[in-house]
Amino acid sequence: MSEDVFEIPEYILAKWAEEKKFIKQVGERIGYGRIMQIGQELWREQLEEMGLAGGEFASGPCVASTVPCGCKDSCGWCCGAGWLTEHVKAVKDKMENE
Ligand SMILES: [Zn+2]
Repeated sequence: MSEDVFEIPEYILAKWAEEKKFIKQVGERIGYGRIMQIGQELWREQLEEMGLAGGEFASGPCVASTVPCGCKDSCGWCCGAGWLTEHVKAVKDKMENE
């Protein structure tokens, strides 16, 4: 590996640490899943105002309830997440084996 690896400046690391501390405080109060739901909702509302709804990040199901997608490259099933619900994985496998 090159010696010229980009190092993240200290002020950015400090900002990220401060943001994490803030989110931890809110998450412990209302739940981390709720933070993600609200974030998605607010992001969508912002994009709707710009006529770009659908560009927001979507939070999904609990990781423990998913299975690996099995994709290697660009994937329209998992959109790059690498995981699917068991039901969607079964549909994917069936369609790919027909
Ligand atoms: Zn995939």
